[in-house]
Amino acid sequence: MLLATIEVIGAYFTRQFDQSSIESFQSSIQIPSIVTNQMANQLVKNTKKADERLSQIVSDYNNTTISNLIVVDNKDIIRAVSNLNDKNRIGQRINNSSVKKVTSTGQQLTQVINDHGNYMVQITPLTSGSGSNNTVGAVYVQASMSGVFNTLRNTSIMFLVASLIAAVMGAVLSLVISRAITRPIEEMQFQALHITDGDYSNQVRIYSNDELGQLGKAFNTLAVRIELSQEESEGERRRLDSVLSHMSDGVLATDRHGNVVLVNQMALNFLNTEEEAVIGKPIADVIGVDDSSSELMSRKDDIDITVNEGTNAEMILRANFSLIKRVTGFVSGSVCVLHDITEQTKNENSQRQFVSNVSHELRTPLTSMSAYIDALVEGAWKDPNIAPKFLSVTQQETDRMIRMINDLLSLSRMDRGTAKIELEWVNLNDFLSHILDRFDMIVKSDSKNGKKKKYSIKRLLGNQALWVEIDTDKMMQVIDNIMNNAIKYSPDGGVITVRLIQSQDRVVLSIADQGLGIPRKDLDKIFDRFYRVDKARSRAQGGTGLGLAIAKEIVEAHKGRIWADSSEGKGSTFFISLPYEPMSDEEDDWDEV
Ligand code: ADP
Repeated sequence: MLLATIEVIGAYFTRQFDQSSIESFQSSIQIPSIVTNQMANQLVKNTKKADERLSQIVSDYNNTTISNLIVVDNKDIIRAVSNLNDKNRIGQRINNSSVKKVTSTGQQLTQVINDHGNYMVQITPLTSGSGSNNTVGAVYVQASMSGVFNTLRNTSIMFLVASLIAAVMGAVLSLVISRAITRPIEEMQFQALHITDGDYSNQVRIYSNDELGQLGKAFNTLAVRIELSQEESEGERRRLDSVLSHMSDGVLATDRHGNVVLVNQMALNFLNTEEEAVIGKPIADVIGVDDSSSELMSRKDDIDITVNEGTNAEMILRANFSLIKRVTGFVSGSVCVLHDITEQTKNENSQRQFVSNVSHELRTPLTSMSAYIDALVEGAWKDPNIAPKFLSVTQQETDRMIRMINDLLSLSRMDRGTAKIELEWVNLNDFLSHILDRFDMIVKSDSKNGKKKKYSIKRLLGNQALWVEIDTDKMMQVIDNIMNNAIKYSPDGGVITVRLIQSQDRVVLSIADQGLGIPRKDLDKIFDRFYRVDKARSRAQGGTGLGLAIAKEIVEAHKGRIWADSSEGKGSTFFISLPYEPMSDEEDDWDEV
């Protein structure tokens, strides 16, 4: 731009300079009017003397610029010349159309001719008298313009050199200035790229306090702010991550189309899947629901879903959806919380089952009692053969109900944790012998009376004292239950084998009978409340279906374990394992002291 400006100015200037140089050259060769008047006066006379006088005036006129001066009269005859070599041309007609034109028109003519070099030719008409139209001749002046053109050329060269120097200086200066501007900008660009990569350690250098310096300072402040907010949001994200990963509920977040964008570990565990298989998939597919994802997202009520149905890992999950809305009301996604309600559902179901069982169990004896009492009321009480039988049945049913209520109460106490276990150290051998003695007594007295079943008890207890810490009343209830079952579910004359085995840290009591046995599929269930393999038989035997459930609760309260083994038709064996710590000799010694 600078160069162009210089060139335009230069062109204008040189043109002006050319013109004024030529004009001043033109005026410098202009013959003063006093001289032309003198020439005209001599021309008019047309005498020899006058011609001499004219030649004198021409030679006297001293203008070094003029190289050739010729005076002609109005007939175009050369009358005087400045160049001595041309003297012989005096008196001859000039062969120049321009001169002829001037002498005929009386108008001055100036022209530049190229005749072995540049010359300016000026032809001035000579007039005499007062009338300017009275042309008596003309003066032909030729002057070399080489001096003028040399000056003009030198000026142009000078101007070219000056403009080149100016252009080079301008270029250097503009480089320096542009560098001063671009350097801070480049540094800012570099820093911006670092910030994009998450590197906030560098600062932009401030070179000046001008607009760029201010911009640099603002940029540095911006970088610090971004770093702080980045740290904050990073911390926030980590907190959220740790909350999500330590939550006991599963969490899935979706975008506004219902595609999963975030999932926590618990949700993956619940759904038994991997993160890669879930991200980007519609939420409805992920949780296995038939509704569309957008319908699901805006659902206000919870939905229960079953995963791994029919397998051991079957789970019931309660899914709750909430929309994520911006301040403007624009829905940007949703959050789905999965809550494991398997246990809760199981408990609710078993509670419902329990209530139904209890009602059923109580209704059966009450119905039969009601029937007998009705019969008695209707007159059977008068019949001495029937009345005692009927009353005995109602008594038995009442007893069974009382037993059942007592069993239920003790189970409820254990459930609520109000049944205290009062532990005391007992020699298990003595304790068992004492209970079994009681059963022996019963069988003896029963056989004397000819009532009830006959059985015999085989004891394999060993002689070693086995000291364990138990609640004797409750443990007696357990053994009574199992012994009674062994008697109840065995045919007459069966042998009940009671064995005590001691291992390093446990003592196992087994009670085996030769009864009906229990089908393999029922072995685990017989410890459930009200579960009976054969309901009718159990009821006929006066069973409540709660004996083994109570036994299990009591044994587990002693940190023990109870289980059964059986082969159908041959008999069943019940095992009770209790924790046992063999007493060392020193302790025995200490006891003796
Ligand atoms: P019940 O009062 O009916 O005997 P339990 O809880 O004591 O209730 O026993 C549950 C069920 O387990 C019984 O109904 C019976 O079917 C089965 N059972 C328990 N002990 C034996 C056994 N020794 N032999 C065969 N079946 C048994």
